[in-house]
Amino acid sequence: MSAPRRAVHPKSRKLFQRAQAVLAGGVDSPVRAFRAVGGDPLFIRRAAGACIVDADGRRYIDYVMSWGPLIHGHAPRGLVRTLAAAAARGTSFGAPTELEVTLGDRVRRLMPWIERVRFVNSGTEAAMSAARVARAATGRDRIVKFEGCYHGHADPFLVKAGSGALTLGTPTSPGVPAATAADTLVATYNDLGSVERVLDEHHGAVAAVFVEPIAGNMGVVPPAEGFLAGLRALCDREQVLLVFDEVISGFRASAGGAQGLFGVRPDLTCLGKIIGGGLPVGAYGGRRDLMELVAPSGPVYQAGTLSGNPLAMAAGLWTLDRLTPRLYRRLARLNATLAAGLADAARAAGVPLQVNAVGSLLTPFFTRAAVRDFQSACTADTAAYARFFQGLLARGVYPPPSQFEGWFLSAAHTERDIAKTIAAARETLEEMG
Ligand SMILES: *Cc1c(COP(=O)(O)O)cnc(C)c1O
Repeated sequence: MSAPRRAVHPKSRKLFQRAQAVLAGGVDSPVRAFRAVGGDPLFIRRAAGACIVDADGRRYIDYVMSWGPLIHGHAPRGLVRTLAAAAARGTSFGAPTELEVTLGDRVRRLMPWIERVRFVNSGTEAAMSAARVARAATGRDRIVKFEGCYHGHADPFLVKAGSGALTLGTPTSPGVPAATAADTLVATYNDLGSVERVLDEHHGAVAAVFVEPIAGNMGVVPPAEGFLAGLRALCDREQVLLVFDEVISGFRASAGGAQGLFGVRPDLTCLGKIIGGGLPVGAYGGRRDLMELVAPSGPVYQAGTLSGNPLAMAAGLWTLDRLTPRLYRRLARLNATLAAGLADAARAAGVPLQVNAVGSLLTPFFTRAAVRDFQSACTADTAAYARFFQGLLARGVYPPPSQFEGWFLSAAHTERDIAKTIAAARETLEEMG
């Protein structure tokens, strides 16, 4: 057994040294630092289509795609032109623009359960604001989330299950007050019984259940048959709001998101990533009566200096206007080919691998166990993933630098990219097996 090839990246390494002297931890978001896979992070110089080029001039087929927003690939020409034209008209006004109305209209047309929408600047802001609205609407403080689901880094969501019989959450980060975490209750993904128990135990105290309708932040985990509909029924029974965090699945699972795909109605929806086409945008929206609680029509305060930014709105509009059925068919085909190719390569090499794939998302988990929740995701061998990652990177493929992330396909990925990726995976897995 030989160690996987490991490339050197002298310019990225130098940049990371400089970065560590000026940026906290050398990066602006932790996963970028490659801590989960080892080695120095690549600094990216430019990108086009499905390819990124690092500071050392090496090219990679990209499966990070900015963690999801780039469903049409990097720097599509039409988007670049649209952005240039928008910038020439002014980059920010702090006043309403037609672009916000038009994009809001597009969102509503694609997700009809969003009767009113508010644009913000990130998925974090969307989830934080949706929690505030849910609490205001119900007069209750507690929220339920699922272990392994991510809703951004606002305090109420940086919470894991408490120990013992208590279902009250405990902080996953210092700096989150214990009192805040105690208002977050943690249930098990794909386990309606766990939700029922939490709602029973905290009857009359829960404002909302937050869920990623397709989990993407413990690696990709699709909802089990009936799970989302079951959540809807439980929430109706307990008069609890159901909030779909579609920051990843929105406009990716289908043009209408997971709610369109599965036909389950959330009361509120959080959006991000694709909705900004690679610029910083988030949004939350839903039932009109709930959204009218938000200032200025209602008392729930939420604001943003750059919210509805015209460049971001223009990018979102360009992106949403190109979500054709053909695009989703093509993405699903490529994803199925990639998933099957990875699974076959692992089988041939005798490496245990479970590939979870849905739509244009997949995660290869290095485990024998079926992955359907956080606990089973945690059976994955993260050291094996790290070796797989390094082997692919050395062969010109850039997968997410963590086992517990989704791989993202885009319109720019080709059959040839997929074939090259499978070949690189086959070589790497043979070395590992
Ligand atoms: C990325 C993500 C967020 C946070 O979005 P940011 O724009 O990074 O703040 C929230 N929820 C889900 C499901 C996400 O994947």
